[in-house]
Parts: sequence; structure tokens; C-alpha cells
Amino acid sequence: MTWPYYLKTRDKKSLEQFLRETIALCAPLSARLNHAQLSSPVEATGNYSYVCDRTHGSNYLLLGDAYTFIDPVFSSGVMLAMHSAFVGADTVDTCLRHPQRAAAALKKFDYTMRLGPKAFSWFIYRVTNPTMRNMFMQPRNIFRVKEALLSVLAGDVYGETPIRGPLLLFKGLYFATSALNFRRTLKAWRARKRNIRAVDETGAAMN
Ligand SMILES: Cc1cc2nc3c(=O)[nH]c(=O)nc-3n(C[C@H](O)[C@H](O)[C@H](O)COP(=O)(O)OP(=O)(O)OC[C@H]3O[C@@H](n4cnc5c(N)ncnc54)[C@H](O)[C@@H]3O)c2cc1C
Repeated sequence: MTWPYYLKTRDKKSLEQFLRETIALCAPLSARLNHAQLSSPVEATGNYSYVCDRTHGSNYLLLGDAYTFIDPVFSSGVMLAMHSAFVGADTVDTCLRHPQRAAAALKKFDYTMRLGPKAFSWFIYRVTNPTMRNMFMQPRNIFRVKEALLSVLAGDVYGETPIRGPLLLFKGLYFATSALNFRRTLKAWRARKRNIRAVDETGAAMN
């Protein structure tokens, strides 16, 4: 994992050279990859998360990656794609068999499609900040919050088990811990803001 600004310091180096130099920055990684060989040319892409404005339209549904792709940090993509296929199949079935219920079925489909990625994104967006890092490194199971968190990360994001209370508590603890460590929170927020900024093609800040 690295900050976007670092990736933009590549300048005119080839992708392969930049990759090799980046690996060399980490001695243990470099040692582990000492005898590794490239199996294909090095390729690069930007942030590959995206989300469509809509989940469906006239005679089509957007399933899986066709609707959204979120950072695979919690390995959620296949589960979300498969779940969307189940919900999509039910929705199409209802639209064909009971056209009068189509609008309600599509509304439910839309809600479900947005729910899963949103639940994971809340954690993905915060996972690298100090508050979340400390909570992960010193886990405690007060009011079963640890179980609720594990349940979410295992894919329980559609409200089929009673984890809503403990999960809200987890988020409350997160915000309370952030507020109690206000200076650290502010510092992390500023660092993030500094790191995620507009840069020109040479890597220099544009503002
Ligand atoms: C680097 C990376 C790491 C990832 N790691 C994980 C992970 O650890 N765990 C996890 O759960 N998810 C992970 N994902 C996400 C996961 O792979 C996807 O979210 C998931 O595969 C989406 O499934 P899908 O069926 O929507 O799309 P896809 O799996 O992309 O399936 C779409 C299929 O449609 C085919 N196709 C495209 N166009 C046409 C056409 N015109 N005609 C016919 N066929 C076509 C494609 O060839 C493809 O086979 C990762 C993704 C990436 C990029």
C-alpha cells in the first residue's frame, strides 16, 4: 500500500524500473523477491474503484463489477458479485411474472446493490487511519463488537443476522476514540489530505 503522490513521482522512468526501485525501498521484500522473475511486462493502472450512478435501466440490470468495484482490501468483490446475481435473478423473475410488482422489485434491487459496497467502503476508507489501526491491533469484544465486525468482513452486510446494534456501537467507539485523540485524528486527517492531492505529471503539488 502506498500514497498516490508516491506513484506520481515515477516521472520518466519505465514502469519496470519504478517497480524495482520501489521494491528496493523495503529490504525484507527485496530479499524475498531476490530470485523472482517477471512473468509478464509490468502494467499500471490508477485507482480502479468506481461506482455507476444507476443500478439498472430499461431492460437491463448492472450486476457485480458492472455496477461497482471497490478496493479489494477485504476481498469482497466475488461475494458482492454473486449476491447481486441472486438478487438480480429474483428481480428479473418478479418483473417477468408479476409486471405490476416490477417497480417495487427494482427499488429493492437498487437498495440492495448499494448497501453491500457502502458497508465495506466505510471500513476501507478508514482502515489505514491510527484510530482504526489501534482498534484492530488491540481487539476487545465489548458487547460483541468484535464478532459483529468479523461478521461484516465475512460478508454479513445484508442485515440477515442481529449485528446492527454491536456494529453501531463499534462505529460509536470509533468516533469517540477519534474525538478523544483529537490531535492525532487531526494530524492523520491532514496527512491524508496532504497525500491525496492534485499533482502534475512530474509529481509536484499543483496547489
Ligand atoms: C487485483 C484484483 C484483486 C482482487 N481480489 C479479490 C479478492 O481477493 N477477493 C474477491 O472476492 N474479489 C477480488 N477482486 C474482485 C473480483 O475479482 C470481482 O469483483 C469479481 O470477479 C466480479 O465478478 P463479475 O462477475 O462482476 O465480473 P468478472 O469476474 O469480471 O466477469 C465478467 C466476465 O464477463 C466476460 N465478458 C466481458 N465482456 C464480455 C462480452 N462482451 N461478451 C462476453 N463476455 C464478456 C469477461 O471475460 C469475464 O469473464 C479483485 C479484483 C482485482 C482487479
